[in-house]
Amino acid sequence: MSILVVGSVALDTVETPFARIEETLGGAASYFVTAASLYSQVNLVAIIGSDFPREHLDFWGKRPVNLAGLKIEEGSTFRWAARYHMDMNTRDTLDTQLGVYAGFHPVIPEEYRSSKLLFLANIQPELQLEVLEQVSDVRLSVLDTMELWIMTTRSQLTEVIKRVDMLLMSEEEVRQYTNRASLVAGVRQLLDMGLRYVVVKQGSYGALLFGADGTFFSAPAYPLEEVIDPTGAGDAFAGGLLGYLATVEPQQDGEDFSIDRLRSLAMDDVAERYQCLVMCSHFDPNWCSGEPGQAQTISRRGVKLL
Ligand code: AMP
Repeated sequence: MSILVVGSVALDTVETPFARIEETLGGAASYFVTAASLYSQVNLVAIIGSDFPREHLDFWGKRPVNLAGLKIEEGSTFRWAARYHMDMNTRDTLDTQLGVYAGFHPVIPEEYRSSKLLFLANIQPELQLEVLEQVSDVRLSVLDTMELWIMTTRSQLTEVIKRVDMLLMSEEEVRQYTNRASLVAGVRQLLDMGLRYVVVKQGSYGALLFGADGTFFSAPAYPLEEVIDPTGAGDAFAGGLLGYLATVEPQQDGEDFSIDRLRSLAMDDVAERYQCLVMCSHFDPNWCSGEPGQAQTISRRGVKLL
């Protein structure tokens, strides 16, 4: 399955307490494309200015990345500058220059329209809505966003949330958007808007998957000793997630479980819950990289938490 992604392609200037890099390849879609193209064909829709370095396009040219939907326009590429604090989790945006993004309206090329997976990477929610108007055959649509849109364009963001299958948000963004102190209550509020899945990103603590059908999965984070630059971590994570999904054909057969059943529990029920916990904390041991486009079959059982 090929993946369609729409989002920012940028030139970033990033400062950490330890280093600084200027005008490097950045943008939410760039991180996504670079990770997802390890697994499958990625169809990119974005815009860059005439000043965008050729070398970045040459890099994607060596990957299964379709650039037919990448518009090159006379003018400046989107630029973003940020400074990270000592904890490397929080940052201040120092500068955002939209450049050619100012007048951008995404156009999905005909050859992209059969893409089964859609990733709406970070970009103005109005533009994400324009993309949704142009696709009809998508099996899973996934949305990413940022604090800026929660604060400035909440109603448009809400429209997009109501129209996609899966939402990726950091723990702080879930609290900001839902105004709930309890993460699980916030996730339930989001699922009640019609989402099938919510993925809560918890930085160095990993990520949680909540399904409207009660599915729950907790993925730990790989323990890194040294974090050099966390920019784009969420987008690269999304690239890995959708890239993986592009290689498998999931089947669903959820199981029911509830604390209210405690008094009537039999040992079989305990064994079943044990299996569920195994599923919550293990990775598919049969998955292998294969060739992009080669689907595998997996079966999945859910754990009811919500
Ligand atoms: P993340 O670290 O996941 O928030 O992603 C950082 C990337 O988002 C950077 O490479 C930026 O170029 C890009 N970015 C920053 N601000 C915006 C914005 N307003 N719209 C779209 N992309 C942005």
